[in-house]
Amino acid sequence: MKITKKEEILRAAIFHGPEKISVENWKLPVCADDEILIKVNYCAICGTDVRTFFHGHKKVIPPAIIGHEITGEIVEIGKEVKTNLKVGDRITPVTSIGCGVCRLCQKGLYNLCPDTKALGYYWAGGFAEYMIIPGPAVKQNAWVLLPENVSLLEGALIEPLSCVINAQNYLNIQDGDTVVIYGGGPIGFMHAVMAQTSGAEKLIMVDPAFDRLEKFARNFDNIILINPNTENTVAKIKDITRNFGADVVITACPAKQAQIEAFSIAAPHSRISFFGGLPKDDSMITIDSNLIHYLEISVFGAFASNRKDYQKAVDLISSRKIDPSKFITEVISLEEIEKGIRLVKNGSVLKVVVKIQE
Ligand SMILES: [Zn+2]
Ligand SMILES: [Zn+2]
Repeated sequence: MKITKKEEILRAAIFHGPEKISVENWKLPVCADDEILIKVNYCAICGTDVRTFFHGHKKVIPPAIIGHEITGEIVEIGKEVKTNLKVGDRITPVTSIGCGVCRLCQKGLYNLCPDTKALGYYWAGGFAEYMIIPGPAVKQNAWVLLPENVSLLEGALIEPLSCVINAQNYLNIQDGDTVVIYGGGPIGFMHAVMAQTSGAEKLIMVDPAFDRLEKFARNFDNIILINPNTENTVAKIKDITRNFGADVVITACPAKQAQIEAFSIAAPHSRISFFGGLPKDDSMITIDSNLIHYLEISVFGAFASNRKDYQKAVDLISSRKIDPSKFITEVISLEEIEKGIRLVKNGSVLKVVVKIQE
């Protein structure tokens, strides 16, 4: 397959500051000797893109191109790049790019590098027809190849799924476990399906936006739903688990109440994941630490992901243990990006993928 740069300009969604994004002509980036240029095919909208659109982001300096849930094809490989990649290969770039020298980077934990520079934040991202895989990312081999049976559209789910995998790596979900998930967005449902692939027996999802939870739960099997507006979540979970509690609790939402309540439903020897962060000016919670002590409850954080998590995500999609079509509810054009961001914000959709080009 031969891909040629069709012109020296590209179309890109340029973020100019809160609630200002417009699709414009932009100069095609020059591929330096240590870089790789890709043609972007699809880029999904993430919750963080929505927050950046409405409130800005400290690492996104306008004018900027955001978007990090990307699939694309290699167009050009800088001449100093040593790689097995070929022009035409289909990839998903890895978002977190570390400094490469600190202790965390040495362990491959680029997501936790204090100097991490992410694609779609610090570096230009995927809401554009072409993008550069920058030198530090190339050094890190920051991409995964898409196998033939994973389409470019399906590949747009690899990044969010990799974040879910990173979180569940800590949780040791086993056959017969009861898993409770707070938050009925695409990430919440990915957590549910991932937990099922690990053998979880009972999946319980809680979300006050209950209409949406109910609507999208129809895409999936065997999920018990709780409406916290009309039901007592703690009592219902105690009832379902015959007073034992949940083996695993995941808070996939930015809600204090969910983090606090997790300790009221957690069983002895259970694992809690704070997947969703809280607003930075309101992130203190009070919990009874004796629950952690006496019940041996473990509490884990999770933030972004690394290449090995991307590879596992590719394998799960390729083997059809995860079916992307259940998550992708809208495919829109680049010109419709603002509409897409607003759709994600109002919660009427699961995953919105922007089709940049074929
Ligand atoms: Zn994301
Ligand atoms: Zn580092």
